[in-house]
Amino acid sequence: MMKYKSTRSSIEVSPSEAILKGLADDGGLFVPVKIPKIDVPFTQLAQMQYGEIAYEILKLFLDDYSSEDLKYCIFHAYDQKFDTEEIAPLVKKGDAYYLELFHGKTIAFKDMALSILPYLMTTAARMNHLKEEIVILTATSGDTGKAALAGFAGVDRTKIIVFYPKDGVSEIQKKQMVTQAEDNTLVVGVNGNFDDCQTAVKNIFHDPGFRQELQEKGYVFSSANSINVGRLVPQIVYYVYAYVTLVKRGAIQSGQEINFVVPTGNFGNILAAYYAKEAGLPIHKLICASNENRVLYDFFSTGVYDKNRKFFLTNSPSMDILVSSNLERLIYHITGNDAAETARLMASLQTEGRYEITSEMREKLRTFYGAYAGEQETLHAISALYHACHYVQDTHTAVASAAYEKYLRKVADERPTVIVSTASPYKFAPAVMKAIAGNTEGDVYQKIDALHQLSGVAVPKAVSEIQNAPVRHKQVCEAGEMKNCVRKFLRMDQ
Ligand SMILES: *Cc1c(COP(=O)(O)O)cnc(C)c1O
Repeated sequence: MMKYKSTRSSIEVSPSEAILKGLADDGGLFVPVKIPKIDVPFTQLAQMQYGEIAYEILKLFLDDYSSEDLKYCIFHAYDQKFDTEEIAPLVKKGDAYYLELFHGKTIAFKDMALSILPYLMTTAARMNHLKEEIVILTATSGDTGKAALAGFAGVDRTKIIVFYPKDGVSEIQKKQMVTQAEDNTLVVGVNGNFDDCQTAVKNIFHDPGFRQELQEKGYVFSSANSINVGRLVPQIVYYVYAYVTLVKRGAIQSGQEINFVVPTGNFGNILAAYYAKEAGLPIHKLICASNENRVLYDFFSTGVYDKNRKFFLTNSPSMDILVSSNLERLIYHITGNDAAETARLMASLQTEGRYEITSEMREKLRTFYGAYAGEQETLHAISALYHACHYVQDTHTAVASAAYEKYLRKVADERPTVIVSTASPYKFAPAVMKAIAGNTEGDVYQKIDALHQLSGVAVPKAVSEIQNAPVRHKQVCEAGEMKNCVRKFLRMDQ
């Protein structure tokens, strides 16, 4: 049986408990005690559909779920909600492959995991005889919020509360969230940035008095953020899918190494790639692409993680993050699974805003290559790829493709490389249009229209359906008031 343990102590739980809890009680994140190995040959996986591959991976990592339950979760998650049967198309443009993870309901890669998380969580509640109603508490840099809302809206015996940085998300991202209809949802703008939202959410999670009160009212918190194992594990699947798709097409031999370039914020997506490698996927380099908020680039180049720096609002808002939560899991692994040492480093991050790793730990980071792209480089990458291949990438993906260019200028590496494409360009149409056509006139919907004219790609339903939708969530608060918002929504004072 698989066990997950906290990065900060010896707490151990089953996979379904890890999904239910989100975070360990000591503030640590759950990590697999032992990473299982992929036990089906790649040539055989290459014959399978996305859902079937998902089953082969999920059953390794979530082995307390019955196979019926897992299949139920998978086949309800990866269905017609996606606008393509492939679920995650892999296309070759220029000298790289693009793994398009934006064909789900909210047109960003968060859908890949958040389409299945509600099923995994309600199943886990049943398996563990949970009596309380689950309250999903979420901080979002823009995309998790809507993807989690879309997954949990209307789901029986759950409520979902989303906090987003009021001025730190794109107009489309915001509209997607504030128009969410169902009564079990609450969306609140926060006067602050993503790190403020995430820190306050973590503090609410960790307030033992509040948790006690909550339980008396019949509620229990969980998380839909990428700290939840139920997000991480489904994200491993598409790395395997991309690899075996290349095998199937004859682009690589089974066993041949490839690279992935991952546009990174909270370090969730790229950590899933790391687990895929540890599970046996032949990955050479994981290129960690940051935007102007290049705290991870600096970490990989110096071994010092330091969040004491200016925070930039960029064209890739979902990556505007200075505290990359999931890095804690990697830190834990490179300490040689030393919870005490991880706890010490995280305490230093909490009090000093920084920590430094040993050279021995740095040695174990060789799979990773840090790179970053500034605002101009990002816009340039969009226009260059459009003019060369008539292919439009979004701003986050463009950070990755610009980072890959930089990598190639430094390192002679001819291995096939997959750029993880995390959002539809329609979600960030004004910035994308600025890159391709310069500053154009009009509001965001006119820019979407112009992008449609120019790319020929159909406007996704996710965009067209919110244009005239009524705004239902108008609440704005300070980070210090977030706990009160939760209290009010759950009617805890009555
Ligand atoms: C969330 C997000 C990212 C960053 O992913 P992490 O798992 O937080 O590193 C990149 N691009 C887009 C479009 C996103 O929504």
